[in-house]
Amino acid sequence: MSALLRVQDLCVRFRTMGSLKALATGTKAPFIDAVCGVSFEIHKGETLAFVGESGSGKSTIARTIIGLQRAVSGSISFDGQELTELSAAERKPCLRRMAMTFQDPIGSLSPRLTVRSLLTEPFRIHGLKDRDAGAEATRLLRTVGLPADFVGRYPHQLSGGQARRVSVARALALNPDLIIADEPTAGLDVSVQGEVLNLLARLQDELGMAILIITHNLNVVRHMTDRMAIMYLGRFIEVGSTERIFEHPRHPYTQALLAANPEPDPDAVLNRIELKGEVPSLMRRPSGCEFHTRCRYAQDICSRVFPQSSVSREDLEHSFRCHFPLEHIPVEKPHTPMDRCEVNLKQRD
Ligand code: SF4
Repeated sequence: MSALLRVQDLCVRFRTMGSLKALATGTKAPFIDAVCGVSFEIHKGETLAFVGESGSGKSTIARTIIGLQRAVSGSISFDGQELTELSAAERKPCLRRMAMTFQDPIGSLSPRLTVRSLLTEPFRIHGLKDRDAGAEATRLLRTVGLPADFVGRYPHQLSGGQARRVSVARALALNPDLIIADEPTAGLDVSVQGEVLNLLARLQDELGMAILIITHNLNVVRHMTDRMAIMYLGRFIEVGSTERIFEHPRHPYTQALLAANPEPDPDAVLNRIELKGEVPSLMRRPSGCEFHTRCRYAQDICSRVFPQSSVSREDLEHSFRCHFPLEHIPVEKPHTPMDRCEVNLKQRD
């Protein structure tokens, strides 16, 4: 099956000093690599999650896909059309088939527009002036389970959950093939989180769209997604089916993230894995494996040699970057140093 969205070797770079300041000080403008050589595909009707700490590059990839950020290199192909080679005007028909909901549902809605204007703005932007704005706004509100009389409200008159529903409704306005949901449950009560996730799942079933979810919330990932990609300092360090990664994480960072996930069962015994230190600065990337400064399994080679991507023998779709990938020990029973010795010996055999 051909991919709806195919991203290959995507790199995104930010300057840390303005060009004018660099010119004035006679220095070359320094930069940071926010996304480094990321590749992935999403198929129609599929749900993929990007998981990682703040600043790992998840949202930057999303913003680059929808054209809010420029790629320094790499390819973004949507339904077979290469977006990086198109002008803003040429991209428009493809962008019409994608939509994004942003992290802050209230802040991302213009405070001066009513819900009706917010919901019908995509029609105006894309020149679809023949649509009946009132009927479309009512239809979209109904789709996300809000009453029709919400059309006259302003964003400040909405609760967090209602604003999230409005942003989902707005994203659905043009019947997109792909929705990018950036932290769809952020700032919502647990009960409202469930409502929003059920809404997305229902809409996906009914409309068959693909969903890219960006989240810290591993419970959302586990229950909503088919595949997941773990990010660290702008790179994918583990990618695979959600079920497989939850059952058999191969990268120590993934293992630590999964072990830190809150358990719904209050009696469950937590085996948290403390990560050493802070996430390194993108301006001073560690040498070799960039996770070695925090990894409890790091060995000499880890600080010297960048690990290439490997795939699992049992599942060729499951890839990871680690010199000493974890064996199949459930995350509830973290590795002891002795386990690691056995793993390493097995690898040498
Ligand atoms: Fe840890 Fe080494 Fe694997 Fe990096 S390569 S995750 S430092 S064991």
